Amino acid sequence: MATTSHPPDPSAPPASATPAMLDMRGVRKVYRAGLVETEALSGVTLSVSRGEFLAIMGPSGSGKTTFLSVAGLLDDFQEGEYVLDGENVRGLSDQRLSRLRNQKLGFIFQSFNLIPDLDVFDNVDVPLRYRGLPSAQRDRRIEETLAKLGLVARMRHLPGQLSGGQQQRVAIARALVGRPQLLLADEPTGNLDSASARQIMDLLARINVEEGMTIIMVTHDHEFAARAHRKLHILDGKLIDPRGGVRPGEAGGAPLGGAPGRAAGAG
Ligand code: ADP
Repeated sequence: MATTSHPPDPSAPPASATPAMLDMRGVRKVYRAGLVETEALSGVTLSVSRGEFLAIMGPSGSGKTTFLSVAGLLDDFQEGEYVLDGENVRGLSDQRLSRLRNQKLGFIFQSFNLIPDLDVFDNVDVPLRYRGLPSAQRDRRIEETLAKLGLVARMRHLPGQLSGGQQQRVAIARALVGRPQLLLADEPTGNLDSASARQIMDLLARINVEEGMTIIMVTHDHEFAARAHRKLHILDGKLIDPRGGVRPGEAGGAPLGGAPGRAAGAG
């Protein structure tokens, strides 16, 4: 059969035997409140490679939280396809979705979301308890993770006895303890003073490089976004490459893809 050769598409992800970590095509999400409909995601098409560190910026109300909720399998969507680590998530049962969330995804939030009356150790234990791992195995993993994040001396502190930067480190430990493949970070430095924010950014860059962790981070901070491999903007529910790349849904909807390199300033 005759084949037609096309010039390589610079916006497409590199050809690879392994599937992208995240692959969305034409994802549309509409909120309905009474008679009012809000299109929060308007045909998002995006490919994120394994090991990539992606930053997403956008004004308030542009769809950042909705994007992370859909990517994190916390919220459904009406149209399009979303393949997470090779598995099409459309139509999966709630039970399967929560298992995928627990095994493949880690979350960190602007407000840390630690449980105030559990100490550091028990907060980090929460996702492992959901997995039903035996306690000796859980203890070993928690200790390893706390050691890596410099939190061993704090393991019996309550969140209220820690600084904001320390609390975010605990939240990162909780996100990493289950060895996820994709870390979703919603304004992780938004509640921190500038020195702590920089430390948390250094830590995320180190985790990306040393553990090969794929990270998608929403941020308002241009300096921190510049440390990711790739920066996209979101506006009115549409992803836009500020370098003037393809807007998803146009020109055949080629995915906004990127190859991981080294996160600037990491290591
Ligand atoms: P951002 O995180 O960028 O501030 P969001 O994803 O929270 O934006 O919101 C995108 C749009 O969807 C906004 O217009 C917002 O008002 C709307 N929206 C978000 N959540 C809901 C909801 N639960 N019900 C109705 N509209 C919502």
